Amino acid sequence: SLPALGIDIGGTKVGGGVVAPDGTITDTARRATPGTSVSAIENAIVSVVDELAERHGGPLVGVGIGAAGWFDRTGDTVLFSPHLAWRNQTLRQDLRDRLQRPVWVGNDADAAAWAEYRYGAARGADLALMITLGTGIGGGIVMDGRLQRGAHGVAGEWGHMRVVPGGRLCACGNRGCWEQYASGTALGQTAREVARSSPAAAMLLLDRVGGDADRLTGEHVAQAAAEGDPLALELLGDVGSWLGQGIADLAAVLDPSVVVIGGGVSVLGEMVLGPARARLERALPGRGFRPGPTVVAAQLGAQAGLVGAADLVRRAEAERGLPS
Ligand code: BGC
Ligand code: ZN
Repeated sequence: SLPALGIDIGGTKVGGGVVAPDGTITDTARRATPGTSVSAIENAIVSVVDELAERHGGPLVGVGIGAAGWFDRTGDTVLFSPHLAWRNQTLRQDLRDRLQRPVWVGNDADAAAWAEYRYGAARGADLALMITLGTGIGGGIVMDGRLQRGAHGVAGEWGHMRVVPGGRLCACGNRGCWEQYASGTALGQTAREVARSSPAAAMLLLDRVGGDADRLTGEHVAQAAAEGDPLALELLGDVGSWLGQGIADLAAVLDPSVVVIGGGVSVLGEMVLGPARARLERALPGRGFRPGPTVVAAQLGAQAGLVGAADLVRRAEAERGLPS
């Protein structure tokens, strides 16, 4: 079995890697997405693939791409993306034509879920849920050894469950979606709100952006928290609390054995996961009388998406090669 290329397309970057069959990443490349337009992203993908393939030199199974979009069940079409410009885009064919290699495309968090099930924190779990915290909240479901994609391919989009009626406007067009309260973007948004209304309390955060509250992002909050800023830690605690409540709600629907937290925000580890577990303990329906899920950090960290996508193209190609 050969290595494959894995690509992860988020709201702000295209990251890629050469991934061995055992899930090890042997080389990486990345580009900041120059805008969210369809052609800008395709060009970034092609350039990452070219760079990795050239350095690798040897044969590759194909290119697996996990992207922050909603795919139909066949993976041929991106129906929609809240953060990127895709609307009914025939992405797979477009990329096959340009790359001249086998291509698998699917949702980024689905790919991450698969990677954690195959190689990481959810290995062997009966029912594992993936929650990625990045630009938005992504979701993936692996049940009985299979990625579950729903009737139309868009299962697990729990970032868009409404958690606050009439709440913050979401890129999907609705208001009050979970990802508006528990993602990297949400962290930045809350920090800006607090810094505008209570600049004195937010002094340490504001120092990082020359006093301009509008420039604060989740990244600044993460850095401040790592240095012990109490406000930043409190903001991470809020994100954790929203996360824990959402996990309790997912447990009511799906009763998972393990919930894996990945995506950029997950590198903050216990600063977010601690409050999430505490909230889950208080919010799990039937708590005290039933087991709940364990909540763990992604073992493959923010690389889970590209590792999973690489394995998924390898599997798709192996299946295609079998006599029917
Ligand atoms: C999208 C998901 C995606 C996630 C990535 C969400 O807004 O709906 O498809 O996985 O963002 O952060
Ligand atoms: Zn939404």
